[in-house]
Amino acid sequence: MDLDHLKPIADVDVANKRVLVRADLNVPVKDGTVTDATRLTRLVPGLEDLCARGARVVVISHFGRPKAGPDPALSLHPVAAKLGDLLGRPIQFVPDCIGQTAESAVNALGPGEIAVLENLRFHKGEEKNDPDFAAALARCGDLYVNDAFSAAHRAHASTEGVTHLLPSYAGPLMLEEIEALRRVLEKPQRPTAALIGGAKVSSKIPVLEHLIAKVDKLLIGGGMANTFLLSHGVDVGKSLAEPDLVGTAREIMTAAKQRGCAVVLPVDAVIARDFRAGEAHAVVPTLAVPSDAMILDVGPKSITHMSEVLKECKTLLWNGPLGAFEVPPFGEGTFALAREAARLTKAGKLVTVAGGGDTVAALNAAGVAGDFTYVSTAGGAFLEWLEGRELPGVAALARANA
Ligand code: AMP
Repeated sequence: MDLDHLKPIADVDVANKRVLVRADLNVPVKDGTVTDATRLTRLVPGLEDLCARGARVVVISHFGRPKAGPDPALSLHPVAAKLGDLLGRPIQFVPDCIGQTAESAVNALGPGEIAVLENLRFHKGEEKNDPDFAAALARCGDLYVNDAFSAAHRAHASTEGVTHLLPSYAGPLMLEEIEALRRVLEKPQRPTAALIGGAKVSSKIPVLEHLIAKVDKLLIGGGMANTFLLSHGVDVGKSLAEPDLVGTAREIMTAAKQRGCAVVLPVDAVIARDFRAGEAHAVVPTLAVPSDAMILDVGPKSITHMSEVLKECKTLLWNGPLGAFEVPPFGEGTFALAREAARLTKAGKLVTVAGGGDTVAALNAAGVAGDFTYVSTAGGAFLEWLEGRELPGVAALARANA
């Protein structure tokens, strides 16, 4: 996959052309109101630029997981309204994404006007990457732009199929995400660290296996650290752990050692008897977790140690919280290390790239997301990239330019 030659839509004459933009409008909505507009806000400059250059902009996206056809609860209508507010211009909402309704609406758009088409997943052909559905989508555009890195791990009609049918380009957000990930994984300033946290080892084995070959230090936190501690014979009491993966954890440690990647595990932990907000808690060395207690966060000594490691590094890739951060006070370890990473970034000493749904929420809760070098809004696609996998949506764009 040739990532150096993805064609940016910025270089193309779009005046008066119908530009079909695959965006990710899959944002949280409660009672008809968008509760986190981060993804939409990021789309705004790219869409404004297309309008300013006289494009007739047609935005397409999935939204949630409709089970069988159209579902009013999963209409993109409220999201389109919010996008219009953010853009400060009217957006036409079109109640279907293909067929006569969509084509007439799109053909009536003037230069600089925007339409948002209804949820792609109301049609089965989207997720099946059905060529007929892709052809129906392609009839709504003269050019295609993929600006949805977060949906690029799926080979769907709107991310893959359509690239066979229209001249295809990368949008600014797509390019930004890829550049941030390449900056930390392909040509980083060394030493490099990866901080991987989150609930379970099982969901991140390929990530860990790939990263030990790429980074100099691997910091492990969250529930997944417990399985690594178990693999060292440490009793983790009632903590979330996966005893059947102790062997895998050992193999990862051995492979890391062979490759010169230092693995850093928590040395102390915040423990509680129950997983409840405000539950009585204590800090103990990881070697002294009582059998009726559970580890819910990393302790202060671990934070100090991990901070020291970050100070030695020039690049950090972060995915996953260090503790059960949603439940106070078990977010303090994650927040403290996030603040330290942000401080080093602001001082120009560390390049920090973070991603994955919970990670962004944790950095927002710590109030430092804006201070990281780059925070990806992608979840699954970010993780698959960390696994070293080729994303079908990105590969399709690269191929389109071959
Ligand atoms: P993931 O989606 O794998 O990144 O996992 C994120 C989830 O891991 C968050 O909901 C955290 O609450 C949870 N988590 C992190 N550390 C722990 C822990 N020590 N015990 C239980 N859950 C944890």
